[in-house]
Amino acid sequence: MTDYLIRATAADDFIRAFAVTSKNVTEEARTRHGLSPVASAALGRTMAAALMMGVDLKNEDDVLTIQFEGDGPIGGITVTANSRGGVKGYVGNPDVILPPNQYGHFDVGGAVGKGTLRIMKDIGLKEPYAGSVDIQTGEIAQDLTYYYAASEQVPSVVALGVLTDRHTDYHILESGGYIIQLMPGCSEEIISQLEQRCTAAESVTSMLRSGKIPEEMLEVILGDMDLKIHEKKPVRFECDCSKERVTKALVAMGSRELAGMIDDGEPVTLTCSFCNSKYTFEIPELQQILKFSLEKRTEKLSS
Ligand code: ZN
Repeated sequence: MTDYLIRATAADDFIRAFAVTSKNVTEEARTRHGLSPVASAALGRTMAAALMMGVDLKNEDDVLTIQFEGDGPIGGITVTANSRGGVKGYVGNPDVILPPNQYGHFDVGGAVGKGTLRIMKDIGLKEPYAGSVDIQTGEIAQDLTYYYAASEQVPSVVALGVLTDRHTDYHILESGGYIIQLMPGCSEEIISQLEQRCTAAESVTSMLRSGKIPEEMLEVILGDMDLKIHEKKPVRFECDCSKERVTKALVAMGSRELAGMIDDGEPVTLTCSFCNSKYTFEIPELQQILKFSLEKRTEKLSS
């Protein structure tokens, strides 16, 4: 099955809902970054959430970033998604290994640790919108639920899951989740019905494992609440880095730094944190960039 997400409403628009299946996205992140199982779970859950939150942005070019800055051994998680179904992300220490937690699951909370969860929305304004809360459990879904309540005042249910094949190389078997949000004015009846359904529902990974698609995951919870699917969108791991962009980063380092690299006499390789693509610059290329950088500075001085 290809990866996609859906956007839906229920209960006369008093409920908004999103669901996603993102196995290939998480598998691509795993192979690109060489993620350990617990790192796959942490990044996979965060990417699934970011995809659903990203599609909720208003404009084509808007981007959303989720950052977990915790003191745990994973060394932080950064994920950026756009409104077109593209997502990219990385963790500080992709090879972090931890024993399972008391429930026998990946100890994502232990890997993330305590600290700050930050959500940034770049929606074309001068300053991006930013909200932050303390990390609650580090298990990702609970932290985002808390963020929605505390920072955006939107009561939400966030459920996320990643399942790996522990009998082989820990490749990704399932990945995805859903977000359900209550709009102002939602009746007590709907709220209690929703609470019951969510408590009774199987985990995301169980639902996906039994073959449920995003539409069916939402049906389990909202099926008899006038569920309406409004949009279905393919999603993918996608990075917008390029040699041109990396060259700009080199220019920004300044001519002294560049001259130092040339003096070292070795090609320079820069790695994109988000997708692990490597860009190598040979000495003649570095000389060109230095020349360009010096010309630019002269232009600036003379103008
Ligand atoms: Zn990249």
